[in-house]
Amino acid sequence: MKNPAPPNKEISLDEIFTLSKKVMTVHGANEENGEAVAETVTNAERDGSVSHGLFRIPGYIKALDSGKVNGNAKPVLEEISPVIMRCDAQNGFAPIAHKYCLSSLKAAAKKYGLGAVSIQRAHHFAALWPEVESLGNEGLVGFTCVSYLPWVAPIGGSTPIFGTNPFAFAWPRPNQNPMVIDMATSSMAMGEVQIAARDGLDVPIGTGLSASGKLTTNAAEIAKGVLLPFGGHKGSAIALMVELLAGPLVGETFSYETAERDNSDGGPPQGGQLILALSPDLLGGINWANQAEQFFDKFEAIEGVRLPGARRYKNRKDGNIRKVNAELLEKIVRLTKHDR
Ligand code: NDP
Repeated sequence: MKNPAPPNKEISLDEIFTLSKKVMTVHGANEENGEAVAETVTNAERDGSVSHGLFRIPGYIKALDSGKVNGNAKPVLEEISPVIMRCDAQNGFAPIAHKYCLSSLKAAAKKYGLGAVSIQRAHHFAALWPEVESLGNEGLVGFTCVSYLPWVAPIGGSTPIFGTNPFAFAWPRPNQNPMVIDMATSSMAMGEVQIAARDGLDVPIGTGLSASGKLTTNAAEIAKGVLLPFGGHKGSAIALMVELLAGPLVGETFSYETAERDNSDGGPPQGGQLILALSPDLLGGINWANQAEQFFDKFEAIEGVRLPGARRYKNRKDGNIRKVNAELLEKIVRLTKHDR
């Protein structure tokens, strides 16, 4: 049964940033690392990506407190070839690694037409759109993916082996925000299932299985069981691809290996990330933007259709005040005082 709507509290984006940075630094992150995470959290709340905003703070803090994540990380970027970079995130949260690698990746892709960075020893707990949007904003096509903990069973089975394995893709557009697709390859991101469980909401059948392997719409039961891939065997195949791209291809672990070395503190595990950048100027020649814009015009002219990313861009225009789950906010304020 649906719980009564949880009470919300109004808070500005500036306050979200200040609070997020404060709680990170109180728990041992330095200014640079605290700001990188606070920016990610604030941008998620700004865009309505609520399952990857303040909701993640208790997990970030658990990982700092347990010593799993280095809140003073200074990632190291190594140039393997003019277009291949390897970033050792030094056991830090992913947003700090992005600060150290995206500008070199962009420069390589603009000069040579493409670039790739393998990020190792990072702890990703956020949405993926910020990385690719940043590439799209510079006229580049972007792709990224990460694996996670084994919560998703391949099609036909009930034993989890895949992470929720999201990927994101950005297409640059002249004088406007890039078109960005950002999606988990599970039927639903675990953060969304956890929020539905918290709020007593049902989720669609096919989202996952209970701990006893039964299909259920009960989010709380799925949170204790397994998720299923989106789109049956096709989603299962894409989840498999992400395991390989964000694992051995970048010198990192599969989701099941990630779990084996994780301390289960509830914070993000250590894993890898692949980020690719492609230059349509160099690959496609002069007409790519016009041709794509004509396609988008036709696409959006279809009744009932919108581009992926449009919801977030609309939310982004919605002033400086956000409504946030009051209990969560109180918890984060308590965490700034080392009180759980
Ligand atoms: P959604 O299913 O909500 O959305 C997936 C994509 O589809 C988005 O680009 C979304 O755009 C678009 N979309 C949704 N509805 C429509 C529509 N009606 N028409 C056109 N496009 C649409 O996302 P998920 O629940 O799969 O993932 C949520 C987030 O979780 C992602 O940001 C992902 O990166 C993150 N995640 C992170 C993990 C990690 O380990 N760090 C693990 C798993 C997930 P829009 O945003 O505009 O709605």
